[in-house]
Amino acid sequence: MNIILFGPPGAGKGTQAKNLEKKLNNFQISTGDMLRDEIKNETEIGKKIINYMNDGKFVDDEIVNKLMKKAIFDNQKKGKFIFDGYPRTLEQAKNLDLWLIESNQKIDFIFFLNVSKNIIIQRIEKRKIIEKRSDDDLNTILKRYDTYMETTKPVLDYYSSRSDFHEIDGGLKIEEITTKINTILKV
Ligand code: AMP
Repeated sequence: MNIILFGPPGAGKGTQAKNLEKKLNNFQISTGDMLRDEIKNETEIGKKIINYMNDGKFVDDEIVNKLMKKAIFDNQKKGKFIFDGYPRTLEQAKNLDLWLIESNQKIDFIFFLNVSKNIIIQRIEKRKIIEKRSDDDLNTILKRYDTYMETTKPVLDYYSSRSDFHEIDGGLKIEEITTKINTILKV
C-alpha cells in the first residue's frame, strides 16, 4: 500500500509516517530527511541546497526528482511507500504519477493533514528545542509556511478530487490523528 502524507511543515507528517512504518511494515520516504543527509554528508547536492533549505525555500524540482526516482524504482520498497513531504510541487506530483505507472504501482491513500499557521508555529518552536534543526527559527518557519501555501496549493487541487484523498484535522492530538488514519486504512 502506497501512502502520501501531505500538509504544511509542522503538521505532524513525520510522526504519523513513523507510526505507519511500524504498523504496516512500510518505508517512510522523507525528501526533507534525504536532503538533510546530502548536507550532512557534504555531497555536491548538499552544497547546492544548503542555502535554500536554511532559508525555508524549496529545493529545485530537478534535484528532488533525481533523488526520488531512484527510491521509487527500488524493488525492495515498491508498493510499500509512505511519502512524507513529497510531492510538494505540481511538477513533482505529475512526475510521481508517471513513475508509478512505469513501475506498476499506484497511490492507495492520500492524507492531507490540514493545520493552521498558529498551531504550526507553536509546534515548530517546540521541535526546535528537541531536534535542533537549523531551519526551525521563527522567520524560517513563517517563510516555509508561506512557500508551502503558495507552491503546494496546486498540488492540493491536483489531489483533492481523487477518491483516495482524505482531509484530516492536523490540529488534533497525535493519537487522535493516528486513530483517524488507521480507521480509514482499516488497520
Ligand atoms: P521537511 O523536513 O519536509 O519539513 O523539509 C525541510 C526542507 O527541505 C523544506 O523546507 C525544503 O527546503 C526542503 N524540501 C523537503 N522536501 C522537499 C520537496 N519535496 N521539494 C522541495 N524541497 C523540499
